Amino acid sequence: MKAPHARYRLYTSWQSYLPFLKDLLLRPVSRADADLFRSRLAAFLGAERVTTVPMCRTGIYLAIKHSIRSGQEVVMSPYTIVDVVNMVIAAGGRPVFADIDRSTCAVSARSVEPLIHAGTGAVLVTHLHGIAAPIREIRALCESLGIPVIEDAAQAFGAAVGGERLGTIADLGVYSFGTYKNLNSWYGGAIACKDPERFAAIQREADQMAVRARAALVSRMLKGLMTDIATHPWIFRLLSYWIFRWGALHDVRWINRFVETELDLSRRDYVPPAYLGRMTPAQHRLCLGQLDRVDRANRVRIEKAGRYRDGLQDIDGMLLPPAAVGTAIYTYYPIQYRGGQAERRRLLRHLSRHGCDVGPQHLKNCADLPAFGDFRRNCPNARRAADSVVLLPTYPGYPDRDVAHNLEVLVDYASKSSS
Ligand SMILES: *Cc1c(COP(=O)(O)O)cnc(C)c1O
Repeated sequence: MKAPHARYRLYTSWQSYLPFLKDLLLRPVSRADADLFRSRLAAFLGAERVTTVPMCRTGIYLAIKHSIRSGQEVVMSPYTIVDVVNMVIAAGGRPVFADIDRSTCAVSARSVEPLIHAGTGAVLVTHLHGIAAPIREIRALCESLGIPVIEDAAQAFGAAVGGERLGTIADLGVYSFGTYKNLNSWYGGAIACKDPERFAAIQREADQMAVRARAALVSRMLKGLMTDIATHPWIFRLLSYWIFRWGALHDVRWINRFVETELDLSRRDYVPPAYLGRMTPAQHRLCLGQLDRVDRANRVRIEKAGRYRDGLQDIDGMLLPPAAVGTAIYTYYPIQYRGGQAERRRLLRHLSRHGCDVGPQHLKNCADLPAFGDFRRNCPNARRAADSVVLLPTYPGYPDRDVAHNLEVLVDYASKSSS
């Protein structure tokens, strides 16, 4: 059996290492790099007011805090990272979970409408997997009630609806430039905000934060280097794949933990210090060097998503993301086959056994988590997604040969399990 390419690779280049280290250690601190990246980012997004923030989750915290009065409700998807819910709570919001649509994995106007009223503080819309939520409909709904809408575009940087980039359509938008995102400065993020006064207040608070410690950046960079090495095609094929495959097939906890996320399901009502480190000039420079690549990389992913769709759309019981051309960048290609934890486990074992490296979406349905018990709501679609979403790789270096192999194994699995 031939080993595949890794399910995931970082969006790093050689600039992410030595030049970054050199910038970090040797360049004098300068505001010019930050200002240059922010203005280029504003042009890229087509947004008037944009600033950078330590992390996307810090951006969510700031966006909520400056949009609501403490104690107000924030309508949001439960199918998101636990820390996003934590940031809403830390900012003084009370999460109200709106169920998601099964195909977009995002909230819909239909699920949001019954939950909003004149006293609602804000609506937070997550564009998951690089697939656009129906943001215009939700915005229209909230506009008449004067409720600010915030877009979490952490996984959708560069995606657009009708020529408008996601994150710039509603009142505020947040982006992530974290280690696992398509613009990677190890830590980082940005926030776009339409209202000038609200923007000034957010910028003031962000600018008062202390710059992130170099040691923390170097440590993150070294972890990134390990990931880059372990997932390098040669090393992955010779070594890492076989270790991860063995872990997956034999349920070896300590190996599986390397590829799992969302392991910490605890509640927090404060912003940890690690989320408050302002981006350094070196980080801004790293982002600047990648901005031109984003649209090109997104086009490659859209093309791979098209191949997956063509290969899977006729399978009975297979739920695919919408084919909306031009509104999705498919950070991954999320599929749901029949639904249910047991079915997903069977499917993933079959893929492992037949030489694929494909993993589950690790997000939980936060509306069911004990930590958020006081915000519990019945969200059946989010529950089903949390048990069944499998992410097919789409990153630019992922070979079409591996896409074809994944399709072959999936089609074979479906034909066997339906007969
Ligand atoms: C990654 C991610 C975040 C958090 O981004 P950080 O920069 O790590 O804070 C928030 N929301 C979604 C949907 C994400 O995927």
